[in-house]
Amino acid sequence: MSGTYDVVITGGGMSGMMAAIALADMGRRVAVVSKGDPVCCLSTGCIDVLAAGNNPLGGIGSLPDNHPYHLAGEDLVRISLEMFKAVMSEEGMAYAGDMHANRRILTPLGRHKITCLVPGTMKFANFHPDEYIHVISFNKMKDFYPNYITSNYKNAGCSIFDAGVSTTMSIAQRFENRRFLEGFISWLKGLDIPEGRIAIPAVIGMHSAADVCNEISVELGRKVFEIPTLPPSIPGLRLFGGLKNALLKRGVDLYWGKEIYSVEKSGNQIEAVTLAGDGRPTRVQGNAFILATGSFVSGGLHASMDTVRETVFNLPVYLPGRRESWFNNDFFAPGHAIENAGICVDKSFRPVDARVENLFVCGSILAFSEVMKYGCGHGMAIATGVAAANACGEPV
Ligand SMILES: Cc1cc2nc3c(=O)[nH]c(=O)nc-3n(C[C@H](O)[C@H](O)[C@H](O)COP(=O)(O)OP(=O)(O)OC[C@H]3O[C@@H](n4cnc5c(N)ncnc54)[C@H](O)[C@@H]3O)c2cc1C
Repeated sequence: MSGTYDVVITGGGMSGMMAAIALADMGRRVAVVSKGDPVCCLSTGCIDVLAAGNNPLGGIGSLPDNHPYHLAGEDLVRISLEMFKAVMSEEGMAYAGDMHANRRILTPLGRHKITCLVPGTMKFANFHPDEYIHVISFNKMKDFYPNYITSNYKNAGCSIFDAGVSTTMSIAQRFENRRFLEGFISWLKGLDIPEGRIAIPAVIGMHSAADVCNEISVELGRKVFEIPTLPPSIPGLRLFGGLKNALLKRGVDLYWGKEIYSVEKSGNQIEAVTLAGDGRPTRVQGNAFILATGSFVSGGLHASMDTVRETVFNLPVYLPGRRESWFNNDFFAPGHAIENAGICVDKSFRPVDARVENLFVCGSILAFSEVMKYGCGHGMAIATGVAAANACGEPV
């Protein structure tokens, strides 16, 4: 593609993809550059908005003043989540859930995850301690532990189906086959399952999971729901596939598997990024740029022994004190101080102290997001992605 894009987005995660959808819907010419697949592929596919407390949207006001949700504002958080739901519905993967009420869904370890919006296949996964559930597992299946569920959750039984394969991906692919699905349903019908809901690990298909779930439910006359498995997760891959498809439908150009190796600037303006790849380097030129490269897991931030750096534009990074005050061997420990590290932005999502006017930042690379502490991963990425798109998509 030649010419100048209205906006070039670096990073194809939840925040970058939602920013691209919002901009394309405003009629902008958009490119997304991403060196790899995002963290959402590892996620449960559920949208955590704010897991601390019962009312995710209503709870935003009680977050610390510097939390990025405040930059978007409660109204825009709601609008962006509605936009997300509409996009996923268009893709045949409708999400369920109320932004004012968290749900507690069953995990493969027999515990509960607090989340807000769930794929349609998990809409009946809410925790009801008194109701019997029958867990279906698959012979030798990896990353799913029905015994943990039945020992933690006393009101549960379990049956095991032999799918002939054992990885989550291979079982999910089998469910795309009509004969396999019919065989599975007829096996289920032959079981003497007591009244109650039927829980199946999240492998009942790739793109057609919602239809498969519905068909099993109708055939059995029972409520059926999926339990997310450990990463890599099929619902996370479905979510990513749905959003990527929405970008392609909107004519967004994707430069996937490409890493930026140089940035061209003129005064306070970024003019282009150059991408490494096979053959000649590709120059992608834009009027505005959005940085959405994620935090440490995706490589948007990189920590060395003495500092943390932002890897594309070399922006100043906020750090919560000296290394000894943020270092902790357990990266996923809730409340880990390093979760505060990131890029500080002003009200229009421009990086502060960076001497650049046409760059906007969104997603988990933002300072003070504390995604694990507050349980706001995808929710914060969606809201700040749309907010950054609004900030840079205004007609000039
Ligand atoms: C294991 C795990 C499970 C999670 N589960 C959940 C969950 O169930 N629900 C929930 O709400 N949240 C969950 N989260 C949190 C949530 O996934 C993230 O907070 C959110 O999706 C981050 O989105 P993002 O767009 O900021 O960044 P990312 O998803 O990290 O995407 C950044 C993208 O930028 C690209 N990139 C990085 N550097 C460059 C570069 N130099 N050039 C080009 N591209 C680059 C990367 O390849 C990547 O595609 C989970 C997080 C983890 C780690």
